Amino acid sequence: MDCLFCKIVAGDIPAQKIYEDDQVIAFNDIAPQAPVHFLVIPKKHIATLHDLSEEDDKALAGHILFTAQRLAEERGCQEGFRVVMNCNDLGGQTVYHIHMHVLGQRQMHWPPG
Ligand code: 5GP
Repeated sequence: MDCLFCKIVAGDIPAQKIYEDDQVIAFNDIAPQAPVHFLVIPKKHIATLHDLSEEDDKALAGHILFTAQRLAEERGCQEGFRVVMNCNDLGGQTVYHIHMHVLGQRQMHWPPG
């Protein structure tokens, strides 16, 4: 298992975990880009969004999104927040285990870099 986020799921690498259930975990990003910046990831290893299966992973994808929504609101982001999923090299992905970034508590701008 040579995946950083699988090691966080397994507890082999420490992380500031903020939520966990049987399908997902959420933890604070190690290099936060906003006052609130956490990641929601599936426990199951899925390398990129290209590998997410509409047939097998539809409920999981919804669960990731609604977990992000609930945790953002619990962290005071009622006035708005941003979710980001970088996909593959051109999308700027650096850790190849899908994750939803949730950023909040500051004004966001567009376009992203
Ligand atoms: P990506 O660039 O793949 O969309 O995002 C990867 C994110 O994972 C980055 O925001 C980076 O700061 C975060 N990250 C990388 N390594 C670790 C780690 O060991 N622990 C935590 N908590 N976050 C990490």
